[in-house]
Amino acid sequence: MPCRHCEYDLRGVPATPTGLVLCPECGNTNPPYVNRERDEATSREAAKQALMKPLVIAASGILLGGTVLAATGGVQYLIGGAIIYAVTVVVSYTVLCLCCLAWVGFSSPVGTMALHVAAIHAATGSLFILVNAISPFIAGLALTGALYVYLLSDLTEMDSGDAIIIMVLNMVLYLGTGMVIAAL
Ligand SMILES: [Zn+2]
Repeated sequence: MPCRHCEYDLRGVPATPTGLVLCPECGNTNPPYVNRERDEATSREAAKQALMKPLVIAASGILLGGTVLAATGGVQYLIGGAIIYAVTVVVSYTVLCLCCLAWVGFSSPVGTMALHVAAIHAATGSLFILVNAISPFIAGLALTGALYVYLLSDLTEMDSGDAIIIMVLNMVLYLGTGMVIAAL
């Protein structure tokens, strides 16, 4: 039971006659225990919702991207896509963690962040595969970048400015790696 204002642990702190709990650390009042139990149930529900969203995005992205890959190149594309997906998720997750350490700050638990990255890459990856199949490379890149920024700021609740920087870092990293591989 943390204080709403300073996170001080209020367990064992007696309530005032009105039912409010006065925080001994910061002096602010907290709502009665009954409300707080309900609030905790609500926030547990919210936490479940917060996990559902990236799970649904990840599942639909993987399904869509996998279907397009299988339809265009069969099992070979599917395996290639799965390997690229796994590698880019790990790399982007590392980039995201480093950026959070460097200046963005962590807004979600690291496990949830891994799920966010998995969802973002499933969505942007499947979009890229789709768009790339019907239009020039640069169009796929622009759309993918925009979706990346949107999902990253939406899921992790970071500033879109920070999300843009992280997207550009990732894109430079992937395009650079792609060019090196192509040059070899
Ligand atoms: Zn407090």
